[in-house]
Amino acid sequence: MARIVMKFGGTSVADLDRIHNVARHVKREVDAGHEVAVVVSAMSGKTNELVGWVQGMPKVSGANSPFFDAREYDAVVASGEQVTSGLLAIALQSMGIHARSWQGWQIPIRTDNAHGAARIQEIDGSFLVKRFGEGQVAVIAGFQGLAPDNRIATLGRGGSDTSAVAIAAAVKADRCDIYTDVDGVYTTDPRIEPKARRLAKVAFEEMLEMASLGAKVLQVRSVELAMVHKVRTFVRSSFDDPDAPGMGDPVNPPGTLICDEDEIVEQQVVTGIAYAKDEAQISLRRVADRPGVAAGIFGPLAEAGINVDMIVQNISEDGSRTDMTFTVPSADVDRALAVLEKVRQTVGFDAIQHDDGMSKVSVIGIGMRSHAGVAATAFKALADKAINIRAITTSEIKISILIDGPYTELAVRTLHSVYGLDKH
Ligand code: ADP
Ligand code: ASP
Ligand code: MG
Repeated sequence: MARIVMKFGGTSVADLDRIHNVARHVKREVDAGHEVAVVVSAMSGKTNELVGWVQGMPKVSGANSPFFDAREYDAVVASGEQVTSGLLAIALQSMGIHARSWQGWQIPIRTDNAHGAARIQEIDGSFLVKRFGEGQVAVIAGFQGLAPDNRIATLGRGGSDTSAVAIAAAVKADRCDIYTDVDGVYTTDPRIEPKARRLAKVAFEEMLEMASLGAKVLQVRSVELAMVHKVRTFVRSSFDDPDAPGMGDPVNPPGTLICDEDEIVEQQVVTGIAYAKDEAQISLRRVADRPGVAAGIFGPLAEAGINVDMIVQNISEDGSRTDMTFTVPSADVDRALAVLEKVRQTVGFDAIQHDDGMSKVSVIGIGMRSHAGVAATAFKALADKAINIRAITTSEIKISILIDGPYTELAVRTLHSVYGLDKH
């Protein structure tokens, strides 16, 4: 007998038929004698609709947000998961399974105060464990928790993955299965590159980079938690037949295992390619070249909650003025420009330029640590396709390249092929 957390994403619970299909996956594990907690997302498209409603309201600045009260945003957008948790509990009951729904506040899943992008701080798993002992299946609304102000908080988009891994850690589950609309983690997004291959195993660190650099198959925070708490996490498909052979395998279920790097026997130099669209590039021209300038620019941006990503600073010719280029999410560009205008005098720069519609493509692999020339291969491959590189950042296990948005798909496929990722 094992203790398993099963998480089902939006497409997996998109309508009543799919919810019944999910219930069959749950039944399989219950029938095998396992203790099961289920975490659900909202029906696909629902959260976007709810966010759209909030954004369509008159703008009044409020707690944590310049446009609306983020606590009320959370009250609205958390509702999608409440619906699916109840529906799945009913579906399970109709199959004779003892199940009940739990909202984040009922467990409770305690978060910090950052409404809209809250972090889980503590989960008391004792109630859930007690109910396991009574043979009850817990169906938990993902994406939501209870903030210190006693109000509902949401965990940021894609946050149900994080709910699932955090619950798995809290109840010391043997496994956390993330069921989605693909049957595992691929060498790149299979929607962009049909030749992408499923990976049997991915190291936590690589998955962390892939998720941070745009592979939205897992929320970044869920991978961090899995890594810290050593949660055995599988990514697998909810569209597979729940009763097909091997689906209930307790050790090697079909899918991708996210695990420690020493569990991976055949290490590749490059494991995957990720991309993030909708990046904007901002350049400050003729910035004073003196100590404190970077702090003067990036401090206020951070205070405004704007996530600055790639930063490139040139060496000035005469030691007095230089150019500073960096990227922010396109959605934040107007706010970033407003913040920069305010500090123009104190920091001292001549002009601000900005360019929307950039993309960042990234090459990821722990094998890069011990291999030279990986970056040069990427630059040459992109040059051969006449794709212009606007900025580059590297770390031990990744190379990120900023390019013009329309070239995203071509760049991803080019890099995927140049590192031999489409070869079996
Ligand atoms: P869910 O609603 O189940 O949480 P998501 O849409 O958040 O599902 O994540 C699954 C999607 O992630 C897939 O449909 C796929 O297009 C995308 N994706 C991006 N990169 C990858 C990758 N490397 N491997 C698998 N899926 C990926
Ligand atoms: N429903 C939320 C979202 O769409 C959380 C999730 O699906 O993980 O972001
Ligand atoms: Mg998701």
